Amino acid sequence: MSQPDTDVAGQATDRPVVLRNGTVLTMDDAHTVLPEADVLVVDGKIAAVGQQLEVPAGTREIDARGGVVMPGMIDTHRHMWQTAMRGYGADWTLTQYFVWYYLEHGKAFRPEDVYAGNLLSAWDAVEAGVTTTVDWSHGLQTVDHAEAAADALLAVPGRFLLAYGNIQAGPWEWATDPAVQAFLKRRQEEGKLGLQLAFDVTGDPAFPEKPAFEVARELGLPVTTHAGVWGATGDDGIRLMHENGFMTPETVYVHAATLTTDSYHRIAATGGSISVSTESEQSAGQGYPPTWQVRRHGIPVSLSMDTSVWWSSDLFSAMRSTLGADRSREHLEAHSRGQTVTQVHLRAEQVVDWATRGGAQALGRDDLGSLEPGKQGDVVLIKNDRSPVSFPLLNPYGHVAFQAQRGDVHTVLVGGRVVKHEHELVGADLAAVRRTVDATVEHLQSTLGPEAWAAGMNPALPDDDVLDNPYTYTEYKSHSTHGARGDVFGEPSLDQHTSH
Ligand SMILES: [Zn+2]
Repeated sequence: MSQPDTDVAGQATDRPVVLRNGTVLTMDDAHTVLPEADVLVVDGKIAAVGQQLEVPAGTREIDARGGVVMPGMIDTHRHMWQTAMRGYGADWTLTQYFVWYYLEHGKAFRPEDVYAGNLLSAWDAVEAGVTTTVDWSHGLQTVDHAEAAADALLAVPGRFLLAYGNIQAGPWEWATDPAVQAFLKRRQEEGKLGLQLAFDVTGDPAFPEKPAFEVARELGLPVTTHAGVWGATGDDGIRLMHENGFMTPETVYVHAATLTTDSYHRIAATGGSISVSTESEQSAGQGYPPTWQVRRHGIPVSLSMDTSVWWSSDLFSAMRSTLGADRSREHLEAHSRGQTVTQVHLRAEQVVDWATRGGAQALGRDDLGSLEPGKQGDVVLIKNDRSPVSFPLLNPYGHVAFQAQRGDVHTVLVGGRVVKHEHELVGADLAAVRRTVDATVEHLQSTLGPEAWAAGMNPALPDDDVLDNPYTYTEYKSHSTHGARGDVFGEPSLDQHTSH
């Protein structure tokens, strides 16, 4: 039995919590899995993991029996400000995205609109068991926008990093702006938010992005960059970064899809990591999700969802789509050589690792990503007694990667604080979040007008050429001599039934 929720209305960090009798995926170095085990969190940190733990008096008990207990998941690349447009661009390619946000309407977002998107996205992440999220925040046209983005992240009890960016100006312009640097230094000193710089490297031989890298170095901030995006960024950008000494272990290369072996060698040699957004790469057109290639280079991988303007926002979807894309490619590559794959390389266990430890490694956070004494108390319980999908629980990694979904996230702890319990967020005023988001949607709808709004959501369909099918019946008569059906049905031309 759980004790009453007297301490969870926002400030639960001082009361210990124990999750009892779950299947515990520790994600330690050995990937130890413990059946019917407990995870005890005291003072915000993991205090013990094991069976039948003794716990301090007053510890809150959470029954994890029948469920999976795992580390909080980590998303290393999410444009959270775009969540106020959830689902709007479901049928976009990168072309529509660039036109809509970069060229036409990105400027319409006010600071309060960035706040609204971030607030919604932050609760959305926590609710799905994503306890750490990098806000790849490239809608920061002014420092007021940045303040709004940061304030929204700090209003929600998850871990967030603000990756500062601005698609309305060159990185050599905004990163060198004293007002931007003052903001970054102040937020750094506050110490409540992780910070990164977020910008892309076009491959222009003049390497105009160099001053932005220098600012990142001066401030001690990692750079996260969309690298290997078909038609936008590629090998030239990687080479320029490398030749100028800006490829470092904390650099995160998002997508890394349209790159050659030479670029993967440079990434591997300098210790950076790749953030794979499979749902994004599969439908936007950056290139093929690269996990099938990067394993040959030993490059560390983390997972990300990119943006909810198109796609889902939970890492179950990321794990599932990444397994599918990797295996699909492996089969097709083998088929092209006339071979059959008999054992797949990418395992469910590996994508669970990428969703947890992989993210921690990408962010240089040794204290996240596994359930071991001394680590942060970021814990997820996947358990849904009302769901027929919750049992039998035979292969815990396979269960997490292919069976579970965000609705099965029963409990989430961030730094020992219970932020979701029994499938309900704790202390979230979703009605207020909705009002904030509604105001943004109304603002954008009225700014764009009904025609531009509808056109943006519904890109024109390309022409489809349907092949003539040589096997279509065009004359029923000849066939009807074989039986009596012609007498029953008359003598229709069957092609109208078969040629849709
Ligand atoms: Zn992105």
